[in-house]
Amino acid sequence: MSPQTPAPQTDPPRWAGAFADRTRRMVPSETRALFSMASRPDVVSLAGGMPSPEALPVKVMGTVLGEVLERYGADALQYGSAQGEAGLRERICQVMAAEGIAATPDEVMVTVGSQQALDLVTRIFVDPGDTVVAEAPTYVTALSTFAAHQARVVQVPVDHDGVVPQALEETFALLAAEGRPAKFFYTVPTFHNPTGVVLSAARRPEVLEICRRAGVLVLEDNPYGLLHFGDRPERALRADDPDGVVYLGSFSKTLAPGLRVGWVLAPRGIMDKLVLAAESAMLSHSLLAQRAVDHYLSTQSWQSHLTAARDTYRERRDAMLHELTALMPHGVHWTVPQGGFFVWMTLPSGMDSKALLPRAVAGGVAYVPGTGFSTAGGERHLRLSFSHPTPRRIREGVRNLAALLHAETEQ
Ligand code: PMP
Repeated sequence: MSPQTPAPQTDPPRWAGAFADRTRRMVPSETRALFSMASRPDVVSLAGGMPSPEALPVKVMGTVLGEVLERYGADALQYGSAQGEAGLRERICQVMAAEGIAATPDEVMVTVGSQQALDLVTRIFVDPGDTVVAEAPTYVTALSTFAAHQARVVQVPVDHDGVVPQALEETFALLAAEGRPAKFFYTVPTFHNPTGVVLSAARRPEVLEICRRAGVLVLEDNPYGLLHFGDRPERALRADDPDGVVYLGSFSKTLAPGLRVGWVLAPRGIMDKLVLAAESAMLSHSLLAQRAVDHYLSTQSWQSHLTAARDTYRERRDAMLHELTALMPHGVHWTVPQGGFFVWMTLPSGMDSKALLPRAVAGGVAYVPGTGFSTAGGERHLRLSFSHPTPRRIREGVRNLAALLHAETEQ
């Protein structure tokens, strides 16, 4: 979603009566409406989860694109296959090996960001009215994807160690008793969006076992896994259950979202259907973008780029946490992320982050209210992103937010 996204139209468009049922369920996300407010220069946006502009390899990409066109000529500008270039899929397998995943290129499909993978997986599994289980809270646009496919979304709480296994088990049991078992369990186990938490090492096998026993496929979404602030990446869920997990990956946070290169790793039987779904959705992914990523990975030092990106985001996280600790009033709590882009804040009871937002923006700071991340609830929460603004702007934004919350709590 770009900051230039036009404001939603308020009058019913001329052909609204002809819209399909699922189209009527498509509504702009709260985040989208926010971008127009938050793009004012006097407002520090801690809202959007965009990579830092400093972490985007602009110069290097210029060289890479030039070399790709020189080397492949017209072959860089042709149609490709729906599953994506074999060379890039091979490289993606090497990338995933860092998280303990053993996979072969025929199990990988390149997608237009992991967002498209999320859409295609939902498309091949979900009929209108089918149930999908997700975390509470969860990634906003996953909720819109599920809504667009007319899924019923049931959410299971997340705490500081990720999704709560007992709640997951109980939810599966209830759904089975209802005769509407979940089609899949959508999870962001590592540096979760929006809370920033990691599913603990102790819970990982437990969650896999609960899903296996309930016969529910796991959809593991992992765009932030390599942006860890500690020494090593987390072990992916997929690493320990190749048949039970469909894994989504992306170069959006680790290289550049504008390339729109993500992927899905799925067992063969599922992959065949995903390729057919991709064919009808887009014929093929951009060959130029795929060749650019492949060439970048083979000729540039992605590892040093990643190290620099981790340093950038760690510094920003530290700036945010330091200022939060120094300035927030009593009764305000937040998570301490060990990677990724986000801090999740909990306000004192009785406060409503959505109702507060206009005052926050007037006071020079924007965030995403917690309500957008769940089908119900979330009023006391908000998401702060430290990925895009500089440390100086982050400190300014947190100061503005703290001033507002002090005024609110002292009333
Ligand atoms: N999943 C999660 C959890 C995300 O945060 C995002 C981006 N904000 C995506 C998927 C989609 O990323 P992309 O399509 O750029 O790979």
